[in-house]
Amino acid sequence: MENRILLKGGVVVSVDPDIGDLMKGDVLIEGNKIKAVAANIENVTDAEVIDASNYMILPGLIDTHRHTWQSLFRNIASDWSISHYLTGLHNTVSELYRPEDTYAANLLGSLEALDSGITTLLDWCHNLNTQDHSDAAIDAHVETGGRVVFAHGGGHQHWAPVSHVDHPAEDVRRLRKGRMASDDALVTMCLAPRGNQFASMDVTIKDWALAEDLGLRISCHFGDGEWGKNRPIAALEEKGLLGPHVTCVHCNSLADDELRMMADHGCTASVSPDIELQMGHGWPATGRLMKAGIKPSLSIDVCSSNGGHLFGTMRAAIGTQRGFDNEEAREQGKGCVDEMQLKCSDVIEFATIEGARAIGMDTKLGSLTPGKLADVIMVRIDNYAMTPMNNPAGQFVYNAHPGMVDTIIVNGKFVKRDGNLLTADFEHVRKLAIASRDDIVRRAAGKGGFELGGKWTPEAYVAKD
Ligand SMILES: [Zn+2]
Repeated sequence: MENRILLKGGVVVSVDPDIGDLMKGDVLIEGNKIKAVAANIENVTDAEVIDASNYMILPGLIDTHRHTWQSLFRNIASDWSISHYLTGLHNTVSELYRPEDTYAANLLGSLEALDSGITTLLDWCHNLNTQDHSDAAIDAHVETGGRVVFAHGGGHQHWAPVSHVDHPAEDVRRLRKGRMASDDALVTMCLAPRGNQFASMDVTIKDWALAEDLGLRISCHFGDGEWGKNRPIAALEEKGLLGPHVTCVHCNSLADDELRMMADHGCTASVSPDIELQMGHGWPATGRLMKAGIKPSLSIDVCSSNGGHLFGTMRAAIGTQRGFDNEEAREQGKGCVDEMQLKCSDVIEFATIEGARAIGMDTKLGSLTPGKLADVIMVRIDNYAMTPMNNPAGQFVYNAHPGMVDTIIVNGKFVKRDGNLLTADFEHVRKLAIASRDDIVRRAAGKGGFELGGKWTPEAYVAKD
């Protein structure tokens, strides 16, 4: 008999159109799968029954793009432009990472994500300076008990745009043929190439071929600010390089016809509204993507700048888009929109099923659907902010926060209960993170250095030839 867990009498937001939201419902988990979701599940024997009457129950959240290695320097960039960020993070801090620093950063950042209800994190890892860095990055994820897609994004030396340096294909092949061979493990792999905005087309063609050869999906930045205006998607389409295996991150400054090309070829999208608004990538493309036929997923992106949980991101996404929609209505001489185009339930889909689609796992994850893998979160509603329960989707998007995420199940196993992560020792992680952070600050002193405490604004970035 497989292990059974019955979550009884919770507010269920299933993200499954056939089930919908249940003001009172049950979720039955058997082994690592969701067995049933219904208003009342009876006659279950040998199950651990959990009283869920003080909880909302949802599928685990999915972050489709986060540079997790930057967790050690969280919020150092909160008042920086993209120009400061390129100098500060990519031209000062990144090359100072030793493998043990990458490990500490990924352990901290991956656990932070998991603790906030992100059961699947795509770690967009673009500071892999040696093969040891790659192994350290993966080692950390394996420890957390969360589901992670490790996106191999090359190292410091590859990120001086426009680059002619090849992606470290040897490392990608080594991992794919070794510890990252499985697409069913908790930690899987994809390729995070620079793409034709940040590298030459020759390099881009080689990277796409590498992904195809190894059966890897691709996650790539497009349409962030000025870089996105020279029609990178049109150029890829011409070369036949678009397809459902490609997730386009950002998309802000892509042209409307390029968004339609993405839709025509089945590409997915990842929108990071907090960073896009801060760093001048352009207005979040949420509404334009939806018009083109793509519901985006959501992502944290630069975790050295904004927060690491998707509640803030959901609110940034919905707030920005609703501003646009109301502005458009006003331009048409109306006082406001006739109907809200973007609903709270849409934004929950962005953070769940669309995230699953963007990592190629929508048949396995992203909704509380019988037969899917049991990645489930339980959010407390016995508090001031969630009382009384009137509108589950609205309350989740506007009132929930990581502190309310009390219980988390990944692959049918508890990883958080009673508000405590079971898979890590916080004091141990904190000690590692602070030691690595301090060591990098100490070593940075040799090349000009920087001060913590919100006192450092790096020089504006100047592109090298
Ligand atoms: Zn990014």
